[in-house]
Amino acid sequence: MQETEVSIIIPCYDEAPALPLLYAEFLKLRSLMTGISIEYIFVDDGSRDETRDVIRSLVKQDSCVRYVFFSRNFGKEAAILAGLEASQGKFVVVMDADLQDPPELLPELYAAVKDGEYDCAATRRVSRKGEPAIRSFFARAFYRLMSRISDAHIVDGARDYRLMSRRMVDAILSLKEYNRFSKGIFSWVGFETRWFSYENIERAAGETKWSFWTLFLYSLEGIMAFSTVPLVFASVLGMVFCLVAFVTICVVIAKTVIWGDPVSGYPSLMSVILFIGGIQLFAIGIVGQYLAKTYLETKNRPVYIVQEKSI
Ligand code: UDP
Ligand code: MG
Repeated sequence: MQETEVSIIIPCYDEAPALPLLYAEFLKLRSLMTGISIEYIFVDDGSRDETRDVIRSLVKQDSCVRYVFFSRNFGKEAAILAGLEASQGKFVVVMDADLQDPPELLPELYAAVKDGEYDCAATRRVSRKGEPAIRSFFARAFYRLMSRISDAHIVDGARDYRLMSRRMVDAILSLKEYNRFSKGIFSWVGFETRWFSYENIERAAGETKWSFWTLFLYSLEGIMAFSTVPLVFASVLGMVFCLVAFVTICVVIAKTVIWGDPVSGYPSLMSVILFIGGIQLFAIGIVGQYLAKTYLETKNRPVYIVQEKSI
C-alpha cells in the first residue's frame, strides 16, 4: 500500500450541512494535488444531527475517508487530539469543517513544508469581517495579553488551520496534558513556522458553536494553561495592599499620638474591610482556578472516549 503523504483532520460538531460542500472542495483539491496520497479523518465530536450518517456515506464512496466518533461532545481540542493520534501521514493538516479554512490554500501550505525548510505552514486571518466588533476587540486584546504573559506567542488572528510535519505532530502528542489549548501548544513546541494570511471567510453552512461567553472561558483556559502570571499578580496585589495598610496604620498612629485625633469612622473602616475582603477573594479565586486545573490533571482522565472508529 502507498504510504499516506497528507492526513487531513476535520473536527465536526453538528456539521451535516457543511460536510458535502467540504467534500466537494476536497475532490477539487485532489485534482490539483495528483500523485499525493491524502487521507481524510473526520472526528465526530458527539454531533446531534446527521453528521455521522454523512460521514458514513463518505466512507462508502471513498476509501481515503476514515473516521473517529466520540461517545459525547468533548470539544474541538479533544477532536484535534484524536485526529492527530489517528493520523498516519507524513504531513498532517487540521481544518475546520465549515470552509472557513480555505482548502484551496492547501497546495501552498504543502509546498512550503514538503522540502523540510519549515515544519509548519500556519494560517492567520488578516481581517475579521463579518464578526461582531466587540468580539474582534476582545480577541485582539487576548492575543496581546497572551504574548506578554506566557511563552506561547500566538500570532494575532492565528487559526488552528495548519499543515505540520510528522516530527512536529509527534512533539505535540508528547504533551500529555488534559487541559489542551492547541494554539498555545502549536506555538510552545517551537519549530519553524511559515505564516499565510487570508481574509476572513464566513461559514459555508450551519452555525458557530461558540458564544461570547464560551470564548471568554476558553481564553481564560488558554491563559491558565500557558502562564502562571495571574498567580504572581495575586501575590503582588497582596504585597501592595500590605504596604498601603502599613502606611495607613502609621498615619493613624501619628494622627492620634501627635494631634490627639480620635479614630474616625465606622463607614471608612467598613469600606476598607469590604475592599480588602474583595481583593482576598479575588486572589483566592485565582489560586483556586489553578488548583482546579491541577486537580483535573492529576485525575489523569482520557481527553476523549471513542465510541466507534474506522480502521
Ligand atoms: N467543533 C468541534 N467541537 C465543538 C465545537 C466545534 O469539533 O465542541 C468543530 C466545528 O465542527 C468546526 C470547528 O470545530 O469544524 C470550528 O468550530 P466553529 O466553526 O463553530 O468555530 P468558529 O469558526 O466560529 O470559531
Ligand atoms: Mg467556523
